[in-house]
Amino acid sequence: MTSAAIPLQTIRGACGHDCPDTCSWVVEVRDGVAERLSGDPEHPFTRGTLCAKVNHYLDRVHHPDRVLHPLKRVGPKGEGRFVRVGWDEALADIASRWQAIVAESGAEAILPYSSAGVQGLIQMASLDMRLFGSMGCSGLDRNICGAVAAAGLKATLGCGTGIDPEEIVHSRFIVLWGTNTIVTNLHYWPLVREAQRRGAKVVVVDPIRTRTAEAADWHLAIKPASDAALALAMMHVMIRDGLVDHDYVAQHAVGYEALAERARQYAPEQMSETVGLPAEEIERFAREYATTQPSLLRPLIGMEHHRNGAMQFRTVACLPVLSGAWRHRGGGLARSTHALQFAVLDMDRVLMPEVAKPNVRVLNMRDLGSDLCNRELRPQIRALMVYGTNPMVSMPNQSRIREGLLRDDLFTVVHDLFVTDTALYADYVLPATSQIEHLDLSPAWGHLYLALNRPAIAPLGESVANTELFRRLARALGRTEDWLFESDESMLRAALASGHPWLEGISFERLWEEGHARLRCPEDWRPFANGGFATRSGKAELYSEPLEEQGHDPLPWSGEIRTAGGLQLITGKALHFLNSGYSNMALHRRRAGELFVEVHPEDARRRSLATGDAVRVWNARGSVRAVCSVSDRVRPGIVWMPFGGFVDAAGERQSVNVLTLEEPTDWGGGSGLYDAFVEVAPADSTAPRA
Ligand code: SF4
Repeated sequence: MTSAAIPLQTIRGACGHDCPDTCSWVVEVRDGVAERLSGDPEHPFTRGTLCAKVNHYLDRVHHPDRVLHPLKRVGPKGEGRFVRVGWDEALADIASRWQAIVAESGAEAILPYSSAGVQGLIQMASLDMRLFGSMGCSGLDRNICGAVAAAGLKATLGCGTGIDPEEIVHSRFIVLWGTNTIVTNLHYWPLVREAQRRGAKVVVVDPIRTRTAEAADWHLAIKPASDAALALAMMHVMIRDGLVDHDYVAQHAVGYEALAERARQYAPEQMSETVGLPAEEIERFAREYATTQPSLLRPLIGMEHHRNGAMQFRTVACLPVLSGAWRHRGGGLARSTHALQFAVLDMDRVLMPEVAKPNVRVLNMRDLGSDLCNRELRPQIRALMVYGTNPMVSMPNQSRIREGLLRDDLFTVVHDLFVTDTALYADYVLPATSQIEHLDLSPAWGHLYLALNRPAIAPLGESVANTELFRRLARALGRTEDWLFESDESMLRAALASGHPWLEGISFERLWEEGHARLRCPEDWRPFANGGFATRSGKAELYSEPLEEQGHDPLPWSGEIRTAGGLQLITGKALHFLNSGYSNMALHRRRAGELFVEVHPEDARRRSLATGDAVRVWNARGSVRAVCSVSDRVRPGIVWMPFGGFVDAAGERQSVNVLTLEEPTDWGGGSGLYDAFVEVAPADSTAPRA
């Protein structure tokens, strides 16, 4: 039969990358081969388009460097020399090494290490949690992104979310706060535009003049980490000028008097220097925000990567309480919908927390380098199982992680599609499936649609999905419990059978046919219009007793803002990479260009730097080579670099995270990634190299 005579199948799925959009896609398959992958035009939110990265997803699936068989290291760690081995040999060796470690040091000496590399319900966390939890392996706080924001908002609102983001079209004053929507949340931008068309003013608060800031009506280029100071200065104006919705506050908030007293210390003229804006601009912003309803805050990632990250979110969350914006359709605050999606699914049935051993230590993913190098840790980490993440690129303090991964007495297994920067140090690299080769449910964190990702083709080579990997490992470890071998479909059906009213009519069969469905969130859903906050008091907590009990300031404050010498390093997403993903593909590498650093003209002049110069960016932790780009996109005193799997200009596999540090945030378990300071100098200068 000619290929044209073989029928073409269209199979619906969804992107599994860590991105708020969770685009639905359609894969055209003929004779078991994926011929085309494109956005699903029937998805109401993502509307048939994908992003610059994922438009070439099939090139990633069929990339010649894809790991298709288990690999065993034969050279020194880091050199990347591996030989092909069979699954049976690899599994038997891994199981016996783990069993020996458990017998000698206890199961906590094994650290399973994973993140959102595969962002789906069961491929991100299901059988792995059951297996490692029941073994008593070390737990992992996966708090590098999102957790700080959620923890901060929770202190004020009792939850880390807000209104349905699609309600933005009803807003009249929109503040995109620390988020570059056009680049990192691109399918949301048409809704922002629609609101603008209906008369909304769009304000961007961001130290960098991003593409989104350029497209907005007003850009407030504040200093990094001064978001809470700005919010308090706004509250000062609102309270002073009688712009508070006292009726809403009296009914639905606690601690107003104490907050008013605190806000008195944050007059705009006093905060002007801290925030980096003229007092008059702060005044105008506060007044317009408070008096233009519905007003909506859209804070995403930016402000959480500071040491005061949780307090920043906690403080900003007080604004819609004072303004009473929650009353109005399209008003309040819209952040991740992750918690809304996961609240409707039966996650306990998927994760089975009851099978986990109690009182097991939990390590924070941010501290990987320090923990691996810590000889005093009891028990010391002796085995690392990495899946769905590439910490050598995506975690802070890369040099320390490398030092840890180089330990001869560390047994490392990596499950991935490619020999990543982390996999170079692995004893075994196991082949993982791509998103079109496995089944999953995709709850979005940027909207309220749930998608089913159907496998479009069979796993390539000997690759296996995360769930299948953990079934195989359980078998190799001699485990026989049924719940370690549950099928993917069975887990997904169980998750959907929670009985939650928002899932009414959304069955596995329907998702299989239609690909996606919107959660049955009520029309015109205003979660806090009449209070009902999920805090201890049941009200919005402007004064928080739980925070006080944990040793934090119970009232909003600016938090400690670091102003160390040097240039503050802010990092952001590169358009053509997704963290380290796609950085091994020639087209994406070419489009992303060389690793560069943006320096303000004043800072460049002082250092005799010009655009195109080869420079070194360094601090006490390390040094990377980059190309200088002189730009007033950044404020004086700030430099901006893209993060991801760049090879630096010296040809070394160094990500920008060689310069960042693991310093903890105030609470929420994140990292003050953006509180790193650096120097920039010509590459051939004699300034000290770290
Ligand atoms: S990375 Fe984001 S924007 Fe790109 S296809 Fe995936 S979900 Fe869509």
